[in-house]
Amino acid sequence: MQCIRCQQHPSQIEEYKEAAYDMEMSPESYVRMDEGTYHSRTDFFCCTSCYVALGAPVLPDLIGMYEHAMGKDGTIIPFPTQK
Ligand SMILES: [Zn+2]
Repeated sequence: MQCIRCQQHPSQIEEYKEAAYDMEMSPESYVRMDEGTYHSRTDFFCCTSCYVALGAPVLPDLIGMYEHAMGKDGTIIPFPTQK
């Protein structure tokens, strides 16, 4: 599980660490349960700062990015450098 843009794991992102601590669960469980951008098939999510940096895409667009990033053989293609 990683953010589509910064490629950080939930346990590396402050907002999820804090929320997960408050709810006494792991950052990963928190994202799986409560992060609206989490997509289970590709196992990507988009952290808040990246979501804003991407221009707050609607969910179907975001999932399109996830599917593009997840290569056919399951290899993750690094997200292109932001403008
Ligand atoms: Zn991110």
